[in-house]
Amino acid sequence: MNSKKKILKGLSLEELQETLTEIGEKKFRASQIFNWMYNKHVTSFEQMSNLSKDFRQKLNDNFSLLTLTNVTVNQSKTTKTQKFLFETYDIRKIESVIIPDGDRITLCLSTQVGCPLDCKFCATGLMGYKRNLSAGEIVDQYILTSLEIPPQKITNIVYMGMGEPLLNYQGTLNSLKIFTDEKSTGLSRQKITVSTAGIPHRIVDLADSGLRVKLALSLHSCFDEIRNQIMPINEKYSLKELKETIRYYSEQTKTRITFEYTMLKGINDRDEDIKAITKLCRSIPSKINIIPFNSIKHMAPDGISAELEPTEMERINQFTDELRKKNVTVMLRDTQGDDIAAACGQLAIKENV
Ligand code: SAH
Repeated sequence: MNSKKKILKGLSLEELQETLTEIGEKKFRASQIFNWMYNKHVTSFEQMSNLSKDFRQKLNDNFSLLTLTNVTVNQSKTTKTQKFLFETYDIRKIESVIIPDGDRITLCLSTQVGCPLDCKFCATGLMGYKRNLSAGEIVDQYILTSLEIPPQKITNIVYMGMGEPLLNYQGTLNSLKIFTDEKSTGLSRQKITVSTAGIPHRIVDLADSGLRVKLALSLHSCFDEIRNQIMPINEKYSLKELKETIRYYSEQTKTRITFEYTMLKGINDRDEDIKAITKLCRSIPSKINIIPFNSIKHMAPDGISAELEPTEMERINQFTDELRKKNVTVMLRDTQGDDIAAACGQLAIKENV
């Protein structure tokens, strides 16, 4: 990559307008380029066929469209899930996953190389944290996977891959601005979900941003003592603080919060957990996604991570039924693509470690 050239991918419409006026071009050019990048998914200026040859040359001389390269695709043998591996300019590897489910095609994308949170059940935490992804690198996961899957089209985007989106707030926000622009993906805000382990001031910022995308909170326990053990970030931001901010988010955006809850044997699958979840779900407009735990033992973790076991399916079904009886809205999520380590919490790449 030529590091002197400014990368246009990842710029919002306003930023593109500013950038083009800096090289003496008219503002309306920005919408043309915006459309080519984010709607038509071109990967070179050459392909922007309604722009004059001279203008394309000028763009080429000043700017670049390149963010991610060397895509490799891994197809699950047991499900339709596909895992995409990308290389960044600094030779890091990141992953995205495409999960088809009937008419719904969900893209699960990454926001950081690695993750600083160190959640004890998550493989990404084990590889440590390298850096934030730029908005261009986040958006490119959408563009490059879109190019690989026709005639299918991505219908949903979830920020649930590697990294903590709200610790890369600028990259996440800019990519959301692009995805929610009606001239890019055509996806409604309700089809885009940001998942967070819980960074309260950023939840408030996102609520105030006006973007009104859906928010998922990785809950995993309603008890601080337990959450502290499996999610060290809870020692900094307690459940009480999180509850206040997600309630604010729900009120501001008029959306329901999704709680994510990975079932860990003997840790968060007890009867008292059912009671606590019921109380929480009654107090905030919400639903809960129950996720079977995908073992990360193959990564040879130490400490508590090495001891974590999945709750048996029979108990998961019972747990889910109990919650439903108490009128909690529950989704039981399938484990998708665990044969290619593309399932939740299995995204980690040896080369980065
Ligand atoms: N940092 C963000 C997004 C990444 S995690 C967050 O914490 O929400 C995306 C989801 O996968 C979270 O709900 C997470 O808790 C869940 N997850 C992580 N590891 C898992 C595992 N080994 N098995 C099942 N789900 C897991």
